[in-house]
Amino acid sequence: MVHLIDALHLGRPDVICIALVECGRNELLLVDSGPESVFEVVVEGVRKLGFQPGHVRHLLASHIHLDHTGGAWRWAKEFGTKIYAHPRGAAHLIDPSKLVGSATRIYGNKMGVLWGAVGNIPEDQVIAVEDDAELRFGSERFRVLYTPGHAQHHSAYWLQSERTVFAGDVAGVLIHGGPPIPPFPPPDIHLESWKDSLAKIRLLKPFSLHITHFGKVADPIPAIDALEKRIFDWADWIKQRFLEGRSEAETIPEFERFTVQELLSEGTPVEDLATYERADPASMSVAGLARYWRKYHPEQVP
Ligand SMILES: [Zn+2]
Repeated sequence: MVHLIDALHLGRPDVICIALVECGRNELLLVDSGPESVFEVVVEGVRKLGFQPGHVRHLLASHIHLDHTGGAWRWAKEFGTKIYAHPRGAAHLIDPSKLVGSATRIYGNKMGVLWGAVGNIPEDQVIAVEDDAELRFGSERFRVLYTPGHAQHHSAYWLQSERTVFAGDVAGVLIHGGPPIPPFPPPDIHLESWKDSLAKIRLLKPFSLHITHFGKVADPIPAIDALEKRIFDWADWIKQRFLEGRSEAETIPEFERFTVQELLSEGTPVEDLATYERADPASMSVAGLARYWRKYHPEQVP
């Protein structure tokens, strides 16, 4: 049984969604925690569903970006929750200093407001899980799906009983059934592995997806196909700007206008544009794609 909790990031609905799975009597599991700044809201969300936060025994981390698992350390500290993550991410949950350094380069003095406090998780509460590992909790079975592309340490999780994939960010950002769009933050964007990750999810023929930004996607295959097309379209669009001699700074406002036009042309209501931007800021995507092109295809960009 899957329940959803809106973490109300910065007081706003529909930006960060946390999934709670009942695995057995007094055995609950969360997929991601949201940032530390929403910890109390999510704890309260668990209570409102009629459960005890102390019964959250397991937390599956899709990846360690602060909007997803910046608050995992609070669950570990206050409720003894065990945190499961890809080996490449697990080390940064135990010692988040490098993660804080790279996030500070992106968010600067907004770090505290956006994400709250960052803390470390004791080594014995972090469990590294490899691709294809099977996790049994109570009556539920999850399979780990290593799904890089958005982040090199990204995992999704297949819940057999519901035929659903908890997809973190690899299935994109999709608000109120609108078009799916890709989040491209630095430093790990890799389009080719992202495509392979989507193929892996497609092969499972899921009945639904659960994504962090935002919620349940009931018709997954068309959403995955549309996302894949947009990943390559948007990456090419940005490459073209660089080929025309634009700087990253010049490209950001143009990219914002381009993405807004595209969302509107696909029927996105005006009031959802700000939610898309909060979940997937254009400035971050320009930086992430600039890094991708220069690192993996330097011959194709100036
Ligand atoms: Zn992310």
